[in-house]
Amino acid sequence: MCGDLMKITGVMVQYYVACKRELWFYLNQINMNYEDENIILGRHIHKESYKREKKNILIDETIALDYVKNENGVTVFEIKKSSKLEEPVRYQLYYYLYYLKKEKGIEAKGRLVYPKERKTEDLELTPEIEGEIENIIGGIEEVAKMEKPPEAKRKPYCKRCSYYELCWV
Ligand code: SF4
Repeated sequence: MCGDLMKITGVMVQYYVACKRELWFYLNQINMNYEDENIILGRHIHKESYKREKKNILIDETIALDYVKNENGVTVFEIKKSSKLEEPVRYQLYYYLYYLKKEKGIEAKGRLVYPKERKTEDLELTPEIEGEIENIIGGIEEVAKMEKPPEAKRKPYCKRCSYYELCWV
């Protein structure tokens, strides 16, 4: 799969689904303020919610799983502060399931957890989703080859995006 060309990470998948321009900035190492309040709060929630569990499992320096449970099959947990980035985060987790299946032969299920909202969502990889993930991987490689960032387009994510000033000010 993709791995031979470039290492596709979950963050790249998340950015690709949220905004291709954001992905381009990220791939070109244009870093804005990553220590903003939202991120710090996110880390805190993460720490407090799953204190006693084994977490932060890095595989092949490519995918970083928040927490994995092996009980009636493997379940991968992704823990988030809020569901505002629901769709991009969903695909990030689908990508982890895809990677585990293709690269490690592990057929896992996924669970998205929003502790602050007391909300969870269970995800399963289907052939259709696998096809979508393959398209996303191809799309990320295309964005990586672009000389200039894709044009800015208003999205619900813009207000919380660390690149806001580069697009709209
Ligand atoms: S501010 Fe909006 S358009 Fe610009 S990179 Fe962020 S999400 Fe994309």
